[in-house]
Amino acid sequence: MPFGEDYLELLGQIGNFTKEVTGVSIVDAYFGPRNLSPEKAKRRLSPEKLLMNLEISIGKAKEIDDELRRIAITSDLESLKVVVKWLRGENIPYIRLVEGIFGITPRKFGQNEIRKAQQIVEDACTVLPGFDVSEKILKWEKENKISGETLKKVIDTVIVERTQEIGGLFEKHIFAHFPTKVENKGVIYKTVKGEPWGAYNYYQGNYTSINVFNIDMPFNKYRLIAVLCHEYEHHVANLFEEKYYRENKSLDLSAVLLHTKRCIINEGTADCARDFLGLQLSGEYEEFIESLSNLRSMIGLNVAYMLNVENVDEETAAEYIASEGFRPVDEARKMIGFSKPLTPDGKPNFFKPYVYTYFFGRRDYVLPTFQKAQKKGKVKEFFQTLYLNPYSRSSATWKIAFSRI
Ligand SMILES: [Zn+2]
Repeated sequence: MPFGEDYLELLGQIGNFTKEVTGVSIVDAYFGPRNLSPEKAKRRLSPEKLLMNLEISIGKAKEIDDELRRIAITSDLESLKVVVKWLRGENIPYIRLVEGIFGITPRKFGQNEIRKAQQIVEDACTVLPGFDVSEKILKWEKENKISGETLKKVIDTVIVERTQEIGGLFEKHIFAHFPTKVENKGVIYKTVKGEPWGAYNYYQGNYTSINVFNIDMPFNKYRLIAVLCHEYEHHVANLFEEKYYRENKSLDLSAVLLHTKRCIINEGTADCARDFLGLQLSGEYEEFIESLSNLRSMIGLNVAYMLNVENVDEETAAEYIASEGFRPVDEARKMIGFSKPLTPDGKPNFFKPYVYTYFFGRRDYVLPTFQKAQKKGKVKEFFQTLYLNPYSRSSATWKIAFSRI
């Protein structure tokens, strides 16, 4: 079997295993041949057998000629080994788990760093009415909060329109740099309840996505455009991955995985989409919203650390988010679902290591390289590498892929 078929079969088996243990498959999207679909990998293999097959696959991956492809796939398989070990019940401390999957070592931002980020928010919120910073922000959030039925309505109207605008900006600022067009059948929107995340891109294959909003989560109307850009960039990245797979018959690219070093870049680029497109959220609030998002990302990482390393209880974590991140405590409780150790039905929380991808993907990889490309007049080269070579999209290959920028 050429490299690809047995690899896809293995991914399907690991996906079935992680789904059985956590409710979530590591195979996030699949658009390869139907007869190789991971869903068809019915055979139930023990985690021990999965680990053995991973080793065999790593051995084969090491023989791939193309450097970026070899490194990206080998690194993916190494991450998956850690996922299987974790979910078969090995006692892996949280710090080792995040390190093993993403190559990032969790640490807590100190009180000084948090205080500094809060000071920037405080300085930026002079545009808001109110007495002190906390009162100002809580009031502003309350006035601009959208969720539930209101959010549903906004999705059917405003969001569909704004998505077309964003699609146009991608054409103008990014696709224009490419020699050939990518097919794009667009995204449709749906809503759900009860998920631990706010929004999600489910890439369907055949150049289309379903982007889902969780109407249980509170959205701020000024931040909606940021969420749209984030999810739309996932759609675009997947379009190019599918195109590459179809043109080059690279079977390995037909399955999009969670919990690999590719996620760091995928979330980093999604969080940089507004920078790529030169899109502002809202003139007068721009600086304030950016500073608040940055603070809340730091708080979110600290909370993941508190819940998983320091073993604090959920109420303490929620109070920390509320007091340090200026949120009402009932909203703060909803924010910990993504990183707490167990899901409400007592399963291991699949997403608990994932919170580390966004902040570091943007800060340590995508944004600095993009800014460097802008300074050196190499934006075209940056986008070509990022979108036309899917193997550049891993923190394991990033430095080599962008070495000429
Ligand atoms: Zn994302």
